Amino acid sequence: MRCGRKRKGEIGLTLITCPNLHAYARVIGVNLTRHTGGVKGKYIHATRTISTRRNMSIQQYKSTLAHELGHAYYQDEPAINGHFHARQERKADEFAANLLLDHDDVQSAMVWNNNHLGATAIELEVTVHILKTWLNMERKNSKHELPRMG
Ligand SMILES: [Zn+2]
Repeated sequence: MRCGRKRKGEIGLTLITCPNLHAYARVIGVNLTRHTGGVKGKYIHATRTISTRRNMSIQQYKSTLAHELGHAYYQDEPAINGHFHARQERKADEFAANLLLDHDDVQSAMVWNNNHLGATAIELEVTVHILKTWLNMERKNSKHELPRMG
């Protein structure tokens, strides 16, 4: 699922770029459009369209677009049930974190920025929320890989 990556910066990160995300949207048949004001992003399943708010930072834009691509990938329709809605949101966040981040980049950016989440998120061009989602997923996964005792 990973798109092409582009090297960036002195610590050799290979960040996914906006053109990569736009190409991915085309591959899964999603139209991209913009709106002014209001929510950061929305996915309309009937027309397979993602709309993102104008004038966001690169961190917000990439994170929002990747999150909405998650809804498109899972073909989510608005959920009325609160529990189901929360689950859709978590899955879209995890999709975004997987799409935008990889283990080596997160590791080197965390070391470079002394484990400061805000600075690391800027370095990685994602929101702190997406970075935290990534770190939680990794923590859960590494727990499963721990050797069994006895
Ligand atoms: Zn969402």
